[in-house]
Amino acid sequence: MSDIKVNIGVIGGSGLYNMDEIKNKREIEIYTPFGKPSDNLMYGEISNIPVLFLPRHSRHHTILPSEIPHRANMWALKYFGVKTVISVSAVGSLKEELKPGDFVFPDQFVDETKGRVSTYFGNGIVGHIPLAHPFCMDYSKIMYEKTSKLGITAHFGGIYVCIEGPQFSTKAESQYHRKQGYDIIGMTVATECKIAKEAGLHYMAVSLVTDYDCWKEEDEVSQDKVLETLKKNVDNIKKLLVESIPEISKTVPSCRCEDIMKGAVLTNKKFVSEKILNDLRLIIG
Ligand SMILES: [Zn+2]
Repeated sequence: MSDIKVNIGVIGGSGLYNMDEIKNKREIEIYTPFGKPSDNLMYGEISNIPVLFLPRHSRHHTILPSEIPHRANMWALKYFGVKTVISVSAVGSLKEELKPGDFVFPDQFVDETKGRVSTYFGNGIVGHIPLAHPFCMDYSKIMYEKTSKLGITAHFGGIYVCIEGPQFSTKAESQYHRKQGYDIIGMTVATECKIAKEAGLHYMAVSLVTDYDCWKEEDEVSQDKVLETLKKNVDNIKKLLVESIPEISKTVPSCRCEDIMKGAVLTNKKFVSEKILNDLRLIIG
């Protein structure tokens, strides 16, 4: 497996469980210090660029948002050299102008999840990383700029509110989120982003709007409606990935994501157990 060296990881969400666009596929099973990833990694090439693909709910959609093994997922991607993560997920819209079928490239999130493991730290080692700018917008911009060519309506920037789920919102919650000025709602990106950032990865999110959550009186979210729009969105995101990945692969971003761990660990390592340090070696160096 040591011959595999990849720069780009793609994480698929609801509806995006595999991609025929990935050529020369090879499946990789891996165990990490944080357990097994959501599924086997799919190694291959998109537009002749090596990538690793991972469906975050597993290919048969068996993993709840709260159950996703984000730490194992990011560890596994990083182990094979991934530096940039393209995170694809379905979202609800909290604004009239963000229509089902549109794509949003959020630049901020608000984390309303409860009690999820959202860090590599703990068990005797303390660290804090900055999250003022959670997403790698240099990469988001590349994808955003390709959307118009493909006839996809897209929005650059926006606030993603991440709820625990798995239930969708009540009307009161949906109205509350609108009043806060949030743009889109989902159940995965905040936790995934926190873990990816700690792993020193460039993390960009593309959010595929499937519905209007439940704030629009006549347009309450139902699983049928979600699935219908989801299918169209999945066709579009596949085209967008094929179009964007060559450019993403040769772009050097201006951010400092890869250096995020410098100065982040506050615990003197001589007080940390050998096991924990070994488990975290790939993450904290
Ligand atoms: Zn970055």
